[in-house]
Amino acid sequence: MEFLQPRSLAEAIAAKAEHPDAVPIAGGTDVMVEINFDARRPHALLDLNRVSELATWQCIGGWGPGEPGPGEPGGDGLVRLGAGVTYTRVIAELGGLLPGLAMAARTVGSPQIRNRGTVGGNLGAASPAGDCHPVLLAAGATVELASARGTRLIPAAEFFTGPKRSVLAADELITAVLVPAAPGPQQFAKIGTRNAMVIAVCAFALELRPPLAGPAGTVGTGIGSAGPTPLRALEAEEFLAGALAEAGLWQTAGRLPDQVAQRFGELVAAAARPIDDVRGTAAYRRHALSVLARRTLSWAWETYRTGDGAPGCG
Ligand SMILES: Cc1cc2nc3c(=O)[nH]c(=O)nc-3n(C[C@H](O)[C@H](O)[C@H](O)COP(=O)(O)OP(=O)(O)OC[C@H]3O[C@@H](n4cnc5c(N)ncnc54)[C@H](O)[C@@H]3O)c2cc1C
Repeated sequence: MEFLQPRSLAEAIAAKAEHPDAVPIAGGTDVMVEINFDARRPHALLDLNRVSELATWQCIGGWGPGEPGPGEPGGDGLVRLGAGVTYTRVIAELGGLLPGLAMAARTVGSPQIRNRGTVGGNLGAASPAGDCHPVLLAAGATVELASARGTRLIPAAEFFTGPKRSVLAADELITAVLVPAAPGPQQFAKIGTRNAMVIAVCAFALELRPPLAGPAGTVGTGIGSAGPTPLRALEAEEFLAGALAEAGLWQTAGRLPDQVAQRFGELVAAAARPIDDVRGTAAYRRHALSVLARRTLSWAWETYRTGDGAPGCG
């Protein structure tokens, strides 16, 4: 097996252009399992561990012209998270800016897996059960892909095309994910057959975006492990944003009516496209998702009510 070890991003992109069938390896927590079980026998591995550009993160400006800039209301900016940043670092360094992603990272595998495993590797594997994905969908993140042909930005919700499939082309690498710094409370919860070292039976992520001006804020959601790809619950997002605006709850920070949480849970469950498999039945997944949705909403709303928000990049 050929083992390619580029020392810079430019070298890595050139190597991928020259060897499109080379399998990138970051933490190796998915790739090495597949190789060890003989599920994959690549003729070349492209080791990304020496590419320092992939292992950094930084705050960058807002979304662009017409958008609030850093330091302005709502201009909390974006975190450009290199594909090679590990879960351990997300937890240690990004709990304030990206609390939802840090929550998901805390649930991944074990300390050993979190020390090696990366967000880019999670995206590269494109498993419907990847724990980063619901959070990236809920946050409206964008995946940055690079090749010798140039760079393209793909909304996380459009990155996945099927179970373990994505839009990533053979000559492309995932270089980063651009995640808006949390504009409000975020939550992530998952169900597994035990607390650690299991693939999620289902997972759910929520982001509340309080209004910058006027009565209406918005809501982001992400469903994991309950469909061929990670999914957004669009109707649930619209319902909750509408219910909060209609009742003036963003302004009064009043208690959330039970029927709003109940309906939100029902709409999240309805958005899932689960199957029966060894980890759970479709019916159980839908039920569990409605519970996770209600639960994460009650936690996030309580955070909003008590004003315990996340700091932004600005
Ligand atoms: C014991 C165990 C427990 C686990 N628990 C969890 C869990 O709780 N939750 C969870 O979501 N996952 C879990 N996983 C799966 C795995 O740890 C994650 O998917 C992790 O994020 C993979 O990251 P990595 O850097 O190790 O990826 P690698 O194994 O290096 O790569 C994974 C895939 O992504 C591709 N890839 C990697 N980097 C890039 C890049 N920059 N550009 C293009 N393609 C790239 C690789 O070619 C490969 O196809 C677990 C795995 C193990 C072995």
